Amino acid sequence: MSDYESYLKGSPLEVQVISRRFRIPNITSIDVFLAHDGYKALAKALKMKPEEVINEVKNSGLRGRGGAGFNTGMKWSFVPRQSPKPKYVACNADESEPGTCKDRPLMEYDPHQLLEGIAIAGYAIGSHQGYIYIRGEYRYLMDILDRAIAEAYARGYLGKNILGSGFDFDIATHTGAGAYECGEETALLNSLEGFRGNPRVKPPFPAVVGVYGCPTVVNNVETLSNVPAIILNGADWYAKLGTPKNGGTRLFCLSGHINRPGVYELPMGFPLRRMIEEVGGGIPGGKKLKAVIPGGSSCPVLTADEIDVAMDFDSVAKIGSMLGSGGVVMIDEDTCMVKMALRIMKFYAHESCGWCIPCREGTSWLEALLERFHSGAGLATDADTALDVSYNMLGKTLCPLGDAAALPTISIVKKFRGEFEEHLKLGACPYERKAVAVA
Ligand code: SF4
Repeated sequence: MSDYESYLKGSPLEVQVISRRFRIPNITSIDVFLAHDGYKALAKALKMKPEEVINEVKNSGLRGRGGAGFNTGMKWSFVPRQSPKPKYVACNADESEPGTCKDRPLMEYDPHQLLEGIAIAGYAIGSHQGYIYIRGEYRYLMDILDRAIAEAYARGYLGKNILGSGFDFDIATHTGAGAYECGEETALLNSLEGFRGNPRVKPPFPAVVGVYGCPTVVNNVETLSNVPAIILNGADWYAKLGTPKNGGTRLFCLSGHINRPGVYELPMGFPLRRMIEEVGGGIPGGKKLKAVIPGGSSCPVLTADEIDVAMDFDSVAKIGSMLGSGGVVMIDEDTCMVKMALRIMKFYAHESCGWCIPCREGTSWLEALLERFHSGAGLATDADTALDVSYNMLGKTLCPLGDAAALPTISIVKKFRGEFEEHLKLGACPYERKAVAVA
């Protein structure tokens, strides 16, 4: 068992839809996949009208699992079918959000499920070409995907006249160089075309002007991996697994201070408290929970008093945060939240593409300010300055990375202001001092 496999621990509370085949030996081989309902959904979809496929996905309540949470079928319906231009499906496999590692097992343990989802999406929007854009650090997954693609061609599930339906569809893999920014859909398209991975101004949206200036649907790996189960079992079945307008299940990645870190497939709307206590086994060492990042580092943090929330897009939004990419990070009572804010900002300052000023300058100024503050040399005005800089980034940048950097900072400064005051009073980090005293 690899280190990573040890993270797929499983829980009796899981409802396995897209992870149901992870433990089947040799499931990456097409023969084994075919013996476990493989490509049945594609065969079924090819007998439906493309609009029926779109409606089925729309009614299932499947929402983008990359973070934005937009209704997937709705997104597909924005592609102008009558356009004379070729249409494309771009699978976003640039999984880079800190705390998130759920697209990886989907590609590693069930690559044909993803290919099937991409082919169905292609049929639904009238496309004949799909791309899988993989982050540079996942390069080894390209071998697994390329092998699966070759098998699918050899067996007639990709290529010309798939299953005698008259539908032609090709899939190719493409690797990025390892930039967080390329997970943003328009930066991904630029990178796919061979340009530097800077984002494009929206509108126009990729559904109308995407790769090579043609209509393109960009969907996350997890999103597309859900499509075969929806087509096979129906929209109602899928919708009922979750909560209203939040259909299905979600791969949640539990990490940080938690007894059983891992990737778990749970119904949409699963309570966060139960996720921490029953699925994850609570906080190590009997320590108290201080905070939770509910959906990857770009989300506002929740305090320990805010964990009685259903983990679906709308419920988490109602309490001022986001379900994001499904990366749930637990933070215990011994963690310095100023250092946490600094660590998050270091990441965004490093990953900012530098294209627009509020993000380029804002992230590096915030990093410097938080660094100084954490060292104990902060000014009494620094916490307010951090808020001011963050609010001047929010909604004022070309792509969501500016917001991704500002939102966690705002939430930490507002919810843990007392820790900033303590640093100021002591002229040092109280948590580091405590650690030295204990040692
Ligand atoms: Fe680049 Fe940041 Fe501006 Fe996005 S917000 S375009 S990452 S500088």
